[in-house]
Amino acid sequence: MDEYMMSYCGLHCRTCPIHLATLEPDQAKQQTMRASIAQELSKIYGTASPLKEIPDCDGCRSSTGVLFTGCADCGIRKCARDKNLENCAFCESYPCGMLLKHYVYDPDSRKRLDEIRMKRCQP
Ligand code: SF4
Ligand code: SF4
Repeated sequence: MDEYMMSYCGLHCRTCPIHLATLEPDQAKQQTMRASIAQELSKIYGTASPLKEIPDCDGCRSSTGVLFTGCADCGIRKCARDKNLENCAFCESYPCGMLLKHYVYDPDSRKRLDEIRMKRCQP
């Protein structure tokens, strides 16, 4: 797996719908994708009306600065960056409380980060 496209918390940015919509060259298709993402997010976060606009996102660890607000404001991302870590798998407090809450929503993130830790322990 391309670890560069993995977020600090273990999400796979390459398959993230927000990133896929960013890469979509067909404007009409892109709008449809974004409308569906907005509805999905309002369901998840329980907001009354869907987000008006889904911005571009190049991925959590991209250096372009083009990042979805929800991920730019993420406490896990901030924490791992402050510690100058490649991702949370390299943290001595792994898995912290913030990560355990995140794993409830995305158990695959745990699998990815656990796999990295296992590899690091192998001789
Ligand atoms: S950083 Fe961007 S691509 Fe990665 S999970 Fe967040 S919104 Fe998706
Ligand atoms: S304490 Fe460690 S595992 Fe938890 S968010 Fe920060 S860097 Fe990640």
